[in-house]
Amino acid sequence: MNRIGNFINGKNSLSKSNKFDNVFDPSTGEIKSEVNLSNYDDLENCIKSSKKSQKEWSDITPLKRSRILQKYKLILEENIDELAKLVSSEHGKTIEDAKGSVTRGIEVVEFASGIPHLIKGEFSQNVGTDIDSWSVRQPIGICAGITPFNFPAMVPMWMYPIAIACGNSFILKPSEKDPSCPIKLAELFSEAGLPDGVFNVINGNKDIVNHLLSHDDISSISFVGSTNVAKYIYEQGGKYHKRVQALGGAKNHLVVMPDADLDQAVDGIIGAGYGSAGERCMAVSAVVAVGDISNELIKKITDKAEKIKIGPWTDNNSEMGPLISADHKKKVINYIDTGIKEGANLILDGRDIKLQGYESGFFVGPTLFDNVNKDMTIYKEEIFGPVLSILRVPSYDNAVELINDHEYGNGTSIYTSSGDIARHFTTNIKIGMVGINVPIPVPMAFHTFGGWKNSLFGSSGMHGIEGMNFYSKQKTVTSRWPSTIKRGSEFKIPTN
Ligand code: NAD
Repeated sequence: MNRIGNFINGKNSLSKSNKFDNVFDPSTGEIKSEVNLSNYDDLENCIKSSKKSQKEWSDITPLKRSRILQKYKLILEENIDELAKLVSSEHGKTIEDAKGSVTRGIEVVEFASGIPHLIKGEFSQNVGTDIDSWSVRQPIGICAGITPFNFPAMVPMWMYPIAIACGNSFILKPSEKDPSCPIKLAELFSEAGLPDGVFNVINGNKDIVNHLLSHDDISSISFVGSTNVAKYIYEQGGKYHKRVQALGGAKNHLVVMPDADLDQAVDGIIGAGYGSAGERCMAVSAVVAVGDISNELIKKITDKAEKIKIGPWTDNNSEMGPLISADHKKKVINYIDTGIKEGANLILDGRDIKLQGYESGFFVGPTLFDNVNKDMTIYKEEIFGPVLSILRVPSYDNAVELINDHEYGNGTSIYTSSGDIARHFTTNIKIGMVGINVPIPVPMAFHTFGGWKNSLFGSSGMHGIEGMNFYSKQKTVTSRWPSTIKRGSEFKIPTN
């Protein structure tokens, strides 16, 4: 049995804990490997190497750090097929989708390699007579990242390239469900010349997360995952005086206005609702049909959803893969059962899908509900599967009210041909990432990714300038030269 261990101080190693979790091939349902469940001793070992390397790494000039990142970018690009294969084989998403997600991660490496410019601070001459003032951003120490199963490459890459570019060392605790790609990402960083210990990967479950949270030597926690855990991480991180950014779950609405290009909207809905089997934090889960377009819209969605090709990642024609685990499949089916019980109108039912040769895979087919209302469980909770709900509302104002009242605030999108509506929507919607005629408005690496409300705890999103600020602390220096000028003691606060 293949065993996935840790990557600590530039080397692959297995924990002495002798505890493992199964890693599945979600298409077949078979156990593919076992992953290490690390213990406190592993973390101590990891922290020892992170601590030593951080001091040395932060002394290296930003330009030299940047050159290692630039080399890493090239190596990642050369290895993109293998990285995507590692993602798909443990997550189940299609190979092209996996490649897209790795590319989005590589773009963060590209952004982070601009660190000499990003970190250069500000300078003011003569803030007082003969007095200059400047600010620099310095590293914060050892940063930790805890990441979810759905993007085993991209989400860690939202974090560690920027943290490391800023002169920190980084410890990644990836999801135990698909841990192979993160290990490979660390090996490739070593190949690019990153000194040992600057980027360590420690595998495990919530026990190791709790050790990270309470460890005195950890300066910051970056978390992406479900809302309950995000809230817990935020509270615990605060208790142990760490910087925390904790991104949680989502319920993303896509509004279709009567003046929208319906075909364009339907294409957007299909890809954003069923792509990656709905296991994206920016997946569209609630379609809000405004006015009298509902029947036509639903017919078009149904026609397209029925034709989606479902299959394993090894089939290049597949457009949608399985869910991550048997437990998750059960949970999604349970939501579909609940939707029916609570009175939603099931138009497409993906519960009984069986693929020849993959009967034990964790597949659920595209599912579509009509006449969903705001009190139903399938609307209130995140399903994280290929289940779309249609809510019919009479007016644009009702659509805005629905979205603003929802507890989640990650992403949303509106399809319309009205500039007035688009402008009103972007101004008034209480959501972190907004799309206009764009179904999944994921910001690029040089902007910041982050939701509002119960989709983000803490004040900082991932990557962009917010990410850089999170992984560095500002120091402002006020200095007077020449030193020969003597003014004597001043007892009032100096003013100009
Ligand atoms: P999860 O919360 O179960 O796990 C995330 C990480 O936390 C994993 O590394 C896991 O080992 C650890 N963990 C799990 N339970 C824990 C506990 N009780 N205490 C401490 N650590 C714990 O999330 P998941 O199922 O891996 O991922 C899916 C979720 O992630 C969805 O809710 C999705 O919306 C969310 N997500 C959000 C974003 C975003 O940007 N907002 C991006 C991707 C995924």
